[in-house]
Order: sequence, then C-alpha cells, then structure tokens
Amino acid sequence: MEQPPVVKVLQPVAAPKREVEGLPEQRALAASATTLEELRSGVASCEACGLCETRKQTVFSDGGVSSGVMFIGEAPGADEDEQGLPFVGRAGQFLTRIIELGIGVKREDVYIANVLKCRPPENRDPKPDEKALCTAWLDRQIELVNPKVIVALGRHAAVHLTGMDLSMGRLRGQVHRVNGRPIVPTYHPSYLIRQEGSSSFVRTKKLVWEDIQLAMREAGLA
Ligand code: SF4
Repeated sequence: MEQPPVVKVLQPVAAPKREVEGLPEQRALAASATTLEELRSGVASCEACGLCETRKQTVFSDGGVSSGVMFIGEAPGADEDEQGLPFVGRAGQFLTRIIELGIGVKREDVYIANVLKCRPPENRDPKPDEKALCTAWLDRQIELVNPKVIVALGRHAAVHLTGMDLSMGRLRGQVHRVNGRPIVPTYHPSYLIRQEGSSSFVRTKKLVWEDIQLAMREAGLA
C-alpha cells in the first residue's frame, strides 16, 4: 500500500520576544552616552539586573580601537570580576597570544569586551533578561568603538551576536553580517585550554587561526 507523504512542520526557532521590563529606559540611558568613557561610567553604576548584587565590580573593556578589531566574549569570570578587566587569567593569556601571534598587533590595539558586564554567580549561564538589559550597553559600545570586524569568542557570544542558534562548528569559518557589520565567530580560549594535550587541540588551534585570518581580511590587516 502506498505510504502517505511525510509532512514536515517547521516550528519557529523561538517564541516572539516579550519586552523586558526596564529595557526601553536602559536603551535610552546607553544611547545618551556620547563617548566610551561616559558609557563606562554608566555601566559602573548600573543596577538594571540582579547581577549588580553579586558582582565585585563591573567589567567594561580592555585595549583600544586602533586595529579595528573588537573581541567579544560572553561574561566575566572570577579573575575578571576581581580585576575589573575582561580576559585576564589563563584564557586571557591565550587570547593575548592569539592577538599577538595571529593578528600581529599588541593586545592594547584591539578592543576586548563581553556581552555581560557583571559576573554571573558561580559562572552560571546568564538569564535572558540579564542578557537583554546588558545588550543595551553592548550595542552602544559597538557603535562607539565602530570596529571593522567583531570576533565572537565562544558559542554563547556567537549565538547572541549573530542571532543564529547553531553549534560553533556551524557558526565559525565564515563572516556573518549583522546590520552590515562583519562578525567572525571562533572558539573561546577556555575551550582551547580544555583541549590542551588532547589529539583535537592542534586541529582546533588551526581552525581558530583560520577564523582570525578571516577577521584580519575584514579589518584590512591581512
Ligand atoms: S549585568 Fe549589565 S545590566 Fe546587569 S547590572 Fe551588570 S551592567 Fe547592569
């Protein structure tokens, strides 16, 4: 007997987003900053979400804008919370090597930030509302830095910045354009550290190298 055709019902990836309480005010506050220093000071006193209660300090940025390259990770960890700087500690040292050996510029010539400016307790995943509220700061930070290319470090940052809920294996290796701005996702330095000593370490390092080359081409540094 002839089988009925299989019908695939495509579901939307996510339900329509509700407006997060306080988000319009948060956006207006971020938009009112005309310089990165004004924005930094707005972030330093931000109490828009519950993470302000557990942070030691806000983590705004490190480095500068001269290379046209901006790295964005997900959120500060314990070392970052302690020092008030993104990507310090072991992952930070790895990132510095990627910048200096891969791009051939000094760490202070690239701009480094996170999606979230406060550390989630015990490094838990940020909640959607926390991300939404802090993205108001990040969006303005990107506008003010105006990078030629953004390198998204790790899957969380890459999904957030590209809006595509895919594995890192599918996100990396290409340039995504969001509002005309190129975004190159690559593996997080912590992921590389976890792979050290394993057979996949060399392969992952090579993939990161390829992604960095892509980003350099976008920034006109290749
Ligand atoms: S995580 Fe972002 S939105 Fe939440 S308190 Fe910190 S700076 Fe404000």
